[in-house]
Amino acid sequence: MSTQKSYISTDIDFDREGKHIGRLRLPYSRNTSGWGIIPIPIAVVRNGSGPTVLLTAGNHGDEYEGQITLNTLIRTLEPRHIKGRVIILPAMNYPAAMAGRRVSPFDGVNLNRAFPGDPDGTPSQQIAHYVSSVLVPMADAIMDLHSGGYSMRMLPTAIIYRPSTPELLERVIGAARAWGCPLGILFDDLGERRTFDAICRDAGLLKLGTELAGGGTVSVEALAFAETGIWNLLKYFGVLVASPPAPRHPCPRSGPMRLTEITGPEAYVYATGHAIFEPAFRLGDEVAAGQVAGWQHYLDEIERDPVPLHFHKGGLVACTRGPGWIEPGDLATLVVTDTTG
Ligand SMILES: [Zn+2]
Repeated sequence: MSTQKSYISTDIDFDREGKHIGRLRLPYSRNTSGWGIIPIPIAVVRNGSGPTVLLTAGNHGDEYEGQITLNTLIRTLEPRHIKGRVIILPAMNYPAAMAGRRVSPFDGVNLNRAFPGDPDGTPSQQIAHYVSSVLVPMADAIMDLHSGGYSMRMLPTAIIYRPSTPELLERVIGAARAWGCPLGILFDDLGERRTFDAICRDAGLLKLGTELAGGGTVSVEALAFAETGIWNLLKYFGVLVASPPAPRHPCPRSGPMRLTEITGPEAYVYATGHAIFEPAFRLGDEVAAGQVAGWQHYLDEIERDPVPLHFHKGGLVACTRGPGWIEPGDLATLVVTDTTG
């Protein structure tokens, strides 16, 4: 990562006691705003010494439950609840969040493929650099809240990016269980190195992610998991010292977390045509290798039979396409399997 200092400044003093709400100011000169900034919302709650927890959402702008959860937390978390410090970014890629899009309209960059970032780069690259070089070094534990976004629907899931040591893996799995979703997925994003997860792994940090629902919607069930889970996590991370406020939504009952993994490329089923995708399953179904995953319908060629897509391996269906329309290379579905080790 570049040693160049970030252009981003802030009116927040991270060391001050109490609750402070402000903005990160990213200078961005554009046609409509010559000396303008991008104001990225941030809140810091501090009470004495203790661990620092960094909570982020809006990494992808079209994933809403996490943004609502952290926005609610900013209003309800008070210094008396904690010992230590909680830093909250409810709309980390603010331009993408304001547009309700996965990537930023200013640069077309997916923030979660821009880490560790570039201080002289585009707005998204500068945000990634600030998070990597300023916020992450302050943190003892990190949670980044995602949902499937417009293009995917997910089961409410704790996402565990494989850490580098067995000790850290045990702690992250403990955090995932504390988070409270019925499903945990271990993976390494097919070796991806440009994500928030990857830089936290490389720094040896305790980092948990989540996929909450998606499809470009706001799910009450996912919100219920997230709003209770975030307080559970603050407790697990050793920051919470008082009872949290009553949840707005009762947390759905779920048994112990089922720990699964994405084994590799064979877990993913991709579209092959420009078509309407009819799934042959429901989220949460158990499927077998070779089973039909769904059909691609070609309404511009009504003589043509629908073309089936097949699961390449068996397991639990954890993700499906959000919109009905699908194009070659779009993810149609994903299966996860119980961990073996
Ligand atoms: Zn996301």
